[in-house]
Parts: sequence; C-alpha cells; structure tokens
Amino acid sequence: MSTEEQIRALIRPEVLELSAYKTVDPGDCIKLDAMENPYSWPKPMTEAWLDRLRMASINRYPDPAAVDLKAALYKYQAIPGGKELLLGNGSDEIIQIILTAIAGDGAVVMAPEPTFVMYRQIAITLGLKFEGVPLDPVDFSLDGQAMAAAIERHRPAVIFLAYPNNPTGNLFDRGTIKEIVKLAPGLVVIDEAYAPFTESSFLDQLDLYENLLIMRTVSKLGLAGLRLGYLVGARLWIEQFEKVRLPYNINVLSQFSAEFALANHSVFEAQAKQIRRDRETLFRQLVAIDCIDPLPSEANFILFRLKHPLIGSDELFCKLKDAGVLIKNMNGSSPHLSGCLRVTVGDQEENSLFMTRLTEMLV
Ligand SMILES: *Cc1c(COP(=O)(O)O)cnc(C)c1O
Repeated sequence: MSTEEQIRALIRPEVLELSAYKTVDPGDCIKLDAMENPYSWPKPMTEAWLDRLRMASINRYPDPAAVDLKAALYKYQAIPGGKELLLGNGSDEIIQIILTAIAGDGAVVMAPEPTFVMYRQIAITLGLKFEGVPLDPVDFSLDGQAMAAAIERHRPAVIFLAYPNNPTGNLFDRGTIKEIVKLAPGLVVIDEAYAPFTESSFLDQLDLYENLLIMRTVSKLGLAGLRLGYLVGARLWIEQFEKVRLPYNINVLSQFSAEFALANHSVFEAQAKQIRRDRETLFRQLVAIDCIDPLPSEANFILFRLKHPLIGSDELFCKLKDAGVLIKNMNGSSPHLSGCLRVTVGDQEENSLFMTRLTEMLV
C-alpha cells in the first residue's frame, strides 16, 4: 500500500477534507493581523518576572491543579464565588476539551457565523456535526428567530457564542442570548476572549442558568504567547471536563508567568484602556474614508468593508503587505464577508502607519 493509500484508509474523511490552520508569515511587517497586544512590559517588571522564573523547578512536573494560578484568577479576574475553573492551553484547548467530552455519534455543535473558526474546525476533527446559523448580513447581529429554529431542528449539544464576536467585533443582543440559553437543550458557551475591551460580560449571569459556561483567555489581554484560557462554570460540569483535560496541560513557565502577570494586572488594564481609546480614533478615521465601511467594535480590532470602484480587498491586502502592514483579509472566508478586512488596533505609531498607507492606496 502506498503512503497515500494508507492515509486514505487510516485518516477520518472529515480530517482529510480539512486544511490546517494557517497564518501569514509577517516578515518585517507591522503585525495588525492577530489581535495581539502591541505593548511590551516596563523594564523593572520584566526583570522581576525573570527573577520569578529562575525559581521554577523545570525538572518537576507542573502542579496539575494549578492551585496558585487559579487563586490568582479568582482574585484578579472577578470570578464569582462558588464557580469552578478549568484551565486550558489557550481557550482553543478548552473548546477541544468540552467537545471531546460530548457524547453521541450525530451530536451537533452550533454557532452563529461568521465567527471564530476553531468551533467548526475542532467539532469536525472530533467527528461531531457543525451547524452554522447566519448572522444578519448587514449589521452582523444575532438572528434570534433563525437561532431558535436551528435549535429546534438540530438539538445542539453545545452552542458557542463569541461575545464580542470575532471577526465582526460586535456584541450580540443580551436579551437574544438569554433566550438562546433558555431554549438550548444542551450547553451554551459564551466566549469572552475580548473581555478586556468591553464592559459587557455574562459572568454575573452564571447563577441563573445551569447550562451556561463562560470561556476566557489571557491572550488578547497581552499574553498570547503563554497559552492560557479558562472556563468558568458550575462544579458539576467542570468536574466532567477535568477528566478529559491532560494533567499537565499548563506548563510550569506558563503557570508562574500568568500568576506574575495577574499580580501586575494594572499594567495590562492600562494597556487595554489605551487600546480602547485608540480603537475609537481608528474607527473615526476609517469612517471618514468614503469607500470604507467599518463596523463599530467592542474588541481590539475593527472589521471593515471596502467599496472601492477599482481596488478589491484582495488587492488592498497585498498592497498593504508589500508596504509593510499586515492585516487580515476576510474576503472569501464567508459569503457575509466579501470585500471585508480586519485590522487589529496596534500602538499609535502602527495605527497611523496603517492609516497613511491605506489612504495612499485608496486615492
Ligand atoms: C482569539 C480567540 C480565541 C483564542 O484564544 P486562545 O486562548 O489564544 O486560544 C478564542 N475565542 C475567540 C473568539 C478568539 O477571537
């Protein structure tokens, strides 16, 4: 048997059909493609962090329960008392843990689309079905009626709602979300990856709905390199997911670093505040351009549609990249996103370089 034949015989068909998650090599570009925090740490903070890391016993396994890190999360992330935490190697792993625990051959995972692609990707790799329910094509709001009908029809085991949503940046209507949580026959996971950039959260609703879980990450706050996400919910659910989690998924360096960063939360809060201010500036500048239609955002990025008579979004993306600015081309990723691009809010210098290049290209 040739290797190709063996692959076809051994690998599940749904995996054969997938393509691996890809990112564009940024080269020397300024990186405004991945919702990363542009700021580094004050020097004394970096020194103190390195001192802390020197104390790490790298020859020992990490604490599988991450007791100290969890205590820091409770303390600094306002986790409601009585709720349990599950830690993941990024929230990507939490999605994988939840879906790995889900029973049944035809089990359905649901999310409104366009949204974060990993819900679909992970569901498919685990052999689950995925049902995407279109958002409103104009303002990307949650279509409550379409969601209700899809819930009735597919009886999803898990529904993911990104709040704010990626790649659109908007917050779905709270009332509509609550209706969905009540209608859902299974779990609803509200993904608050962009919590640092909005006042809105469902953490205070956890006590009201037993099937509700809140997922968060430290990635967008400024620690994307650490890989740490967490799930907040009722003990009875978290207990089940704990059985699926690999015992040492959060390594020693990540545990120490995250604890350290959380103890210095004010640095990150100030950075997030700056990013929120700069997001409003960037939004105003984008609105002022005739052929650009940006969507108001509660996250650290802005989705915009290009409506230029001569230049398309693919061409604009390539030209910006050639001019040293890497953003994300969303065109082609969903029918809803034709002509759309997504720019991460960087520091002021990066934002203004982006605006300068963009304006030059559109005249
Ligand atoms: C970026 C992002 C994540 C990924 O978070 P990690 O913790 O870095 O894995 C999860 N959900 C949404 C909606 C995101 O945009």
